[in-house]
Amino acid sequence: MTAGEAPEAGRDFIRDIVESDLGAKRVAGVVTRFPPEPNGYLHIGHAKSICLNFGLAQEFAGRCHLRFDDTNPTKEEQEYIDAIERDVRWLGFDWGAHLYHASDYFEQLYAWAEHLIRAGKAYVDDLSAEEMRAMRGTLTEPGRDSPWRTRGVEENLDLFRRMRAGEFPNGARVLRAKIDMSAGNINLRDPVLYRILHARHPRTGDAWSIYPTYDFAHGQSDAIEGITHSICTLEFEDHRPLYDWFLENLPVPSHPHQYEFARLNITYTVLSKRVLTELVRQAHVSGWDDPRMPTIAGLRRRGVPAAAIRDFVRRVGVARANSTVDIAMFESAVRDELNLTAPRRMGVLRPLKLVIENYPEGKSELLEAANHPDDSAAGTRRVPFGRELYVERDDFMENPPKKFYRLSPGREVRLRYAYFVTCRGVVKNAAGEVVELRCSYDPASRGGNAPDGRKVQATLHWVSAAQSVPAEVRLYNPLFSRPDPGAGGDIMADLAPNSLERLSDVRLEPSLAEAATGAAVQFERQGYFCADIASRPDRLVFNRTVGLRDSWAKAQAGGKG
Ligand code: ATP
Ligand code: MG
Repeated sequence: MTAGEAPEAGRDFIRDIVESDLGAKRVAGVVTRFPPEPNGYLHIGHAKSICLNFGLAQEFAGRCHLRFDDTNPTKEEQEYIDAIERDVRWLGFDWGAHLYHASDYFEQLYAWAEHLIRAGKAYVDDLSAEEMRAMRGTLTEPGRDSPWRTRGVEENLDLFRRMRAGEFPNGARVLRAKIDMSAGNINLRDPVLYRILHARHPRTGDAWSIYPTYDFAHGQSDAIEGITHSICTLEFEDHRPLYDWFLENLPVPSHPHQYEFARLNITYTVLSKRVLTELVRQAHVSGWDDPRMPTIAGLRRRGVPAAAIRDFVRRVGVARANSTVDIAMFESAVRDELNLTAPRRMGVLRPLKLVIENYPEGKSELLEAANHPDDSAAGTRRVPFGRELYVERDDFMENPPKKFYRLSPGREVRLRYAYFVTCRGVVKNAAGEVVELRCSYDPASRGGNAPDGRKVQATLHWVSAAQSVPAEVRLYNPLFSRPDPGAGGDIMADLAPNSLERLSDVRLEPSLAEAATGAAVQFERQGYFCADIASRPDRLVFNRTVGLRDSWAKAQAGGKG
């Protein structure tokens, strides 16, 4: 963490609770956990939870555990476990020795299930999932007791042991808590504790043919680890009475408390692992780390620094009411971070040849260019200049409207760090398109200033035609075309048709040939970029992380963005 990320930056109701618990000595120290299910990659919503849980541990000198909630082996994979560890570390957090798995506790959880059976507080139910659903009741109607609810303790123990031994097929029976079928809170209507699942688990292999539910595993895992503040998102608020019921009815070593906060939602963005999995599976994206994905891996590949994600999460804050954050707020956090850290370079995305007729043939020179306008310590570099250059196609108009100050016939502009040039004429192809600008330059304006003090209205970026390097650049637009993807019913129908735009004829200043993968650079006037993981010396590929300005107002008004 840098000095700019001091803890006092984020006061919120969770931090108030922690502080008051510590002050009143209700807890000896803060112990939190981040509990991902390894059934997909982490997304920026998870980053909010990570920053909160690990952040609390840092700020209050406690600790935060990383615990895999690996209770559903049909959906969980080692690839996801590895990716989650990599992503949490990359975000800047460290669980030290405290790496746990719900599966570490399978034996203890099983013993506690038998404890409930012996206490007459759990029973084996033979109803099918459908029958159970039909008898659960609704928000306004109570549920009905299962005919198996009155089974004796011995029969329950025998059946539950045989479930564990693998005697019954998937779905034949479940173990349920015996709480209250008429409870107002549906979660208390005899929730399922164990289901039969003949599936190989990444960690426990074939040892188990029954697996605990999230509800039965989560609070007890918290209690085993001595978690003090078990922080989750609002949809678990209704589960809290059940969370407490287990802790009150089992001989657990500690009694953690659950607190709920609002999950992160962002416009034009989907933060549901189920949908993200579908995007990957249906190949709408190239993978979990596609730079258009809101995953940590995708954002990293796109060039978003971890510090920008942490800063964004801090700006959003932690609240108890659900809301949706404008994606412009995320991009603005990314821009603010990159503006400070990214060295400046020049790259021409859509090249148009510019020939300086009075510049000597065969000559070239190196011109000094600042690496950062506000940071002289970032130093300078030397950029090759010559008779033939490329400039941005958009920076020229043959018949400019009134407020267009860039190149047009007869107009003088500054080439950044170089010279003043004046457009003297154009060369057109057979189709009548301008393919080359013929210019003159003022040799006395070397460095970009005329000795007579005359002014120009525009400063353009450029590269040397002979000494620039070719590259592909990928520009990204949001994956979804509406701010609330899926609100119309079919989320895949909301996929934007042009979320990826490839520019295959880009020319970059030669220093960019050595850019390290993922390292941020600003292409002057074009935005922030980084070399993609697929970039090779003989085939450079850059991602645009974000443009220089907020293009959202324009995009929403129907422009190109
Ligand atoms: P999804 O709905 O995307 O499948 P999940 O909640 O099922 O997410 P988990 O792996 O169980 O995924 O999440 C781990 C932790 O991250 C949980 O504590 C969860 O509350 C939190 N989390 C998940 N999504 C968000 C979000 N959008 N904002 C904040 N926290 C989140
Ligand atoms: Mg979950």
